[in-house]
Amino acid sequence: VFTVVIPPPNITGELHMGHALNNTIQDIIVRFKRMQGHKVLWQPGTDHAGIATQNKVEQALAAEGLTRHDLGREKFVERCWAWRERYGREIVEQLRLLGCSCDWERERFTMDEGLSRAVRTAFKAYYDAGMIYRGARMVNWCPRCHTSISDLEVEYEEQASHLWHIRYPLADGSGGLVVATTRPETMLGDTAVAVHPEDERYRPFVGKEAELPLTGRTLPVIADEQVDPAFGTGAVKVTPAHDPNDYETAARHGLVSRVVIDFEGRMTPEAGADYAGLTTLECRERVVADLEKLGLLVKTEDYSHAVGTCYRCHQTVEPLVSEQWWMDMSPLKEPAIRVVESGEVSFIPERWTRVYLDWMANLKDWNIGRQLWWGHRMPLWHCDSCGNIVVEVETPERCPRCGGGLRQEEDVLDTWFSSALWPLSTLGWPDDEAELQKLYPTAVLSTAPDIIYLWVARMIMSGMHLRAEKPFSHVYLHATVLAQDGRRMSKSLGTGVDPREVIGEYGTDALRFTLVILTGQGQSVRLWEDRFTVGRNFANKVWNAARFLALNLAGSPLADAAPFVASLPDDRELFLEDRWLISSLGRLSAAVTEALESYRFNEAARLVYDGFWHDYCDWYLELIKPRLYGEDKKARETALAVALHGMRLLLKLLHPLMPFITEELYHRLFPNAPADLMVSPWEEGGDWPGYAGDEVNVERLKELIEAVRNVRGEMGVPPGAKVRLLVKTADADLAALVRTQAGYFANLAGVEEIEAGPEVRKPKGAAVAVAGRVELYLPLTGVVDFAAERERVRKELAKVRERLAKVEKKLADAQFRQKAPAGVVRGEEEKRERLAAELAALERHLAQIEDML
Ligand SMILES: [Zn+2]
Ligand SMILES: [Zn+2]
Repeated sequence: VFTVVIPPPNITGELHMGHALNNTIQDIIVRFKRMQGHKVLWQPGTDHAGIATQNKVEQALAAEGLTRHDLGREKFVERCWAWRERYGREIVEQLRLLGCSCDWERERFTMDEGLSRAVRTAFKAYYDAGMIYRGARMVNWCPRCHTSISDLEVEYEEQASHLWHIRYPLADGSGGLVVATTRPETMLGDTAVAVHPEDERYRPFVGKEAELPLTGRTLPVIADEQVDPAFGTGAVKVTPAHDPNDYETAARHGLVSRVVIDFEGRMTPEAGADYAGLTTLECRERVVADLEKLGLLVKTEDYSHAVGTCYRCHQTVEPLVSEQWWMDMSPLKEPAIRVVESGEVSFIPERWTRVYLDWMANLKDWNIGRQLWWGHRMPLWHCDSCGNIVVEVETPERCPRCGGGLRQEEDVLDTWFSSALWPLSTLGWPDDEAELQKLYPTAVLSTAPDIIYLWVARMIMSGMHLRAEKPFSHVYLHATVLAQDGRRMSKSLGTGVDPREVIGEYGTDALRFTLVILTGQGQSVRLWEDRFTVGRNFANKVWNAARFLALNLAGSPLADAAPFVASLPDDRELFLEDRWLISSLGRLSAAVTEALESYRFNEAARLVYDGFWHDYCDWYLELIKPRLYGEDKKARETALAVALHGMRLLLKLLHPLMPFITEELYHRLFPNAPADLMVSPWEEGGDWPGYAGDEVNVERLKELIEAVRNVRGEMGVPPGAKVRLLVKTADADLAALVRTQAGYFANLAGVEEIEAGPEVRKPKGAAVAVAGRVELYLPLTGVVDFAAERERVRKELAKVRERLAKVEKKLADAQFRQKAPAGVVRGEEEKRERLAAELAALERHLAQIEDML
């Protein structure tokens, strides 16, 4: 089974362009594989999104004037479930609107029963392996969400602030040091001043005591290698309880820690009577004012720096020391590195492999506990009688050691703990081995690059540890969607384009197609609403082509019998353009297949677009019009049959990209088709006969027809006017081809009479076009202003001369001839020859025009 698990959207989520792109890509993959005959599972579901959902529910409560504490844990969690029932469906409805062909009856939720069991089983496995422990460490604390968050959940925002220079007098009265800080309020928790051991300026101070202003305390001056002598004054304050680096400095020097900020983000009594109870910002103002009064504020500089904020509520994060549950990641590291290094799991685009491996090399322990109420409560119980800790999958009744009562741990698990199990838990783990055998590992994961660490890496680690098997073979990391000005697309910035509005205005197919054709592998793409006209215009083109066929089918035997054309008409009945179309569509199909197999979705879209719009609509349907409107019944049926075959193939190739319009048109054109298009067999082009010679011939004719059209356009020949065409060529085959296919020129270039051969001479008053070594003459006396034509040729001459000069310069460059590959040099030489020939022809033509005037 070809399995894909959806990255579960948050139940707080709304479909944004990133979702639209990622889910379109997954839908393309699964539709393509389904048509190729694979058994396909696209596993859908949603994520409970701990912090995000808790925030939403708290906001709703705040509107009623309540906090979660007013409700208590149980009632609050009930409200979260109710919220999920009410709003958690929205994102799923939006995915359906986008046409996602998930196996919807298998939809899962990270907190449903089976997944909760998986979470408990995994937790117990890690705990029993000794990998889960409790410890006091510096964590990122969000005072708003009232929980710790992991390093990966901190977002850094550049903020304009100040750097305050504060004087700390020496206790012995022999002077003082100036320290620079962005957070003066934390000085109340300082327990040392540090300088670099090699910093000459401060050498005499090391080992002395400094007075900490505003507190009456004294601090040791210490020397530490980690101090950057270039930052600020080169002397820094050390606040072990509120700065991660200082925390480590304190550990190296055995310094005490003073907690002056509490979990609410307020100053503690430890900060002193004047400051206790203030918020950190209030305290900052007060401290700065007090220092100023004492004359200890040396200067205040403007300073912009990155401030860590909570990724869910954007409150400034406080580094605080706190008792937390941790997971030792070291046993998970090696297998998760090996499976990527060996290529068993590959990243697309390839450059993400390095990003992943670099991060894994520096893997730190994971703070898995969250002080939230919404989420998976840890399956861990404390016995207050004997101090025992019990970890079980099933809730235990009493302490197995002393028989005492048990109290479940208050912390819930980080949301990503359950997300990390997603490919396992949705596919049968830990209870359904048979199911798991069938469905796991999955084939490919498509996701956003910004969650490689948070999610992708953790799924690989969980899969390797709990199942000894990778969760997926390929990881496709899709492009980032940006706003028109290159900024992040975001609703709060007002830069977002809402996919639902695009669907309303342009249609789902247009949204999907535009997203895919514009986004290359792993690059970022700028999007704005107008760009979706690309998809809409294409959808219209496809619709009109199908309608044209349907109109012509009416009254044809093909319409009465089974309009599902089983096989191509006999070879002998085919016209040149039929063979050209069949041959080029066969190649197109192979190329589209190859592009989809290699995750080059934009290339697949571009190929189908060009094949449909240009080859099929602009050329083939135009070339067969004389047959469709002509008297020859047999020729008409053949043209229709080939056109239908072409349309069927193109609808198939387009289906994964534009599922709605293709399915609809397929049923209208082929009412007797044995199955829906979405489950019809993919055609890889192998069964389509190739006619290489005919393809070349039609391409040459197209080139000449385009040359005639260009001249007509440039010379202002009225569209309805019929012209005579003379083709001068030494190529006898080409001359014969032009003569036998005179109908093409009549039909597509308004040419009523044609002559071709080496002996052709330019008549008086004829315009000239040059296509390679072929010259085309259009006698235009009486239709065209020759003085204007002279101008045109002069301009053309100047252009060709310029191009020729460039090529000659390049070829004269010894460096280029030495370094460029032989093929490139040969290509340039051929170009020179061609341009020289064009130049000569144009010069002759100019001379002739001047003759005529
Ligand atoms: Zn927060
Ligand atoms: Zn006990």
